[in-house]
Amino acid sequence: ACCFSCCFRAMAEITKFFTFGLTPVHTPVKNNQENACNIQPMKKIVSIIGARPQFIKAAAVCRALKENMLHEVLVHTGQHFDQNMSQVFFEQMQIAPPDYNLGIHGLGHGAMTGRMLEAIEEVLMAEKPDVVLVYGDTNSTLAGALAAAKLLIPLAHVEAGLRSFNRLMPEEINRILTDRLSQWLFCPTITSMNNLKAEGFESFDCQMHLCGDVMYDASLLFAPMSRPPAGLETGGDFLLCTLHRAENTDNRERLASIIEAINQLSQNMQVVFPVHPRTARLLGRDGLPGLAPGVIRLQPVGYLESLWLLRHARMLATDSGGMQKEAYFFGLPCLTLRDETEWVELVDAGCNILCGAEKNRILQAYSHFIYQKPAFPPGLYGKGNAGQIIARHLYDS
Ligand code: UDP
Repeated sequence: ACCFSCCFRAMAEITKFFTFGLTPVHTPVKNNQENACNIQPMKKIVSIIGARPQFIKAAAVCRALKENMLHEVLVHTGQHFDQNMSQVFFEQMQIAPPDYNLGIHGLGHGAMTGRMLEAIEEVLMAEKPDVVLVYGDTNSTLAGALAAAKLLIPLAHVEAGLRSFNRLMPEEINRILTDRLSQWLFCPTITSMNNLKAEGFESFDCQMHLCGDVMYDASLLFAPMSRPPAGLETGGDFLLCTLHRAENTDNRERLASIIEAINQLSQNMQVVFPVHPRTARLLGRDGLPGLAPGVIRLQPVGYLESLWLLRHARMLATDSGGMQKEAYFFGLPCLTLRDETEWVELVDAGCNILCGAEKNRILQAYSHFIYQKPAFPPGLYGKGNAGQIIARHLYDS
């Protein structure tokens, strides 16, 4: 049966559109779930992104939102802004250009988060979304979460519940606060669900959903398009290395020790190292070692090139959160250059060794994986449909 009031509302919106030539705040669409006459306003989601891993996560979710008839307004805070840290991901992963680019970067934590909060609040007041969606654990995540909470707009957090239990990491502070402000907590792993339960979230006014990891969705979508970085000459079987986390780059001793280990390993195995801009500013300066001639140094690569490197490497050494998981997706043993990880299931499975920054531990872990290929138990990060699960929950809410 036709619902008179919703048809009437839809007609009013359409009339407004044609009369004034304006895009209505709620664009009327047909709800394809029910009968053809049941027309509902499209739900509006404002998504906040700003850093490299967030572009990759958003690429998987944006598609699912569109497929589920959710209207997305994309806000790029500007936290990462170099062509090869930002633009390339929009191009390669066909993410629509952001509706807003706030251009905020190159500041300390307080100033950056504060300016983002102010600018995001303005966007939210203009857009009046039904939901704000944030990803991961950066300053952009926290600023988006705070802006939404203060305007009483429901907040959804993708990658909820992750904990390193190290409050010295700025990311840990960002995650804990963002989780606490969220109405929808989309958890990638069983461990992350359990972390929230242990913090009492079951008694809070929020929904927790175990949906798998959106980075797995992205890697399945884009791996068939992976391609080698331009000009790279390698026969495969190399050690892939990335390094950017503040706990390593802001500590001279740790950074020097890691670089010495990588340089030594390059005598045994070819090393390919796409260097993050933060690390590039430090290598070989003020008494810190530079990279040995045997290390192939690259600029940061695009996502398709990063996937190619992961597919062809023999081992990964990294302090990246995302790349630890990607190593697992592609069956690559991982030396994690940190003292703890949020992805503990990989360490438990034996395919990831926490080496910290100590040279000897890194060399030992490398030798371990040379002689012993680890197992990669399937299914740790879901089925590759995390984006769809997230979109369905937001649609149904
Ligand atoms: N990545 C990339 N180019 C690079 C290095 C990494 O596209 O030169 C990708 C990588 O495949 C992964 C993501 O960036 O998907 C990880 O981001 P990052 O290490 O900057 O952040 P984290 O995951 O530690 O938050």
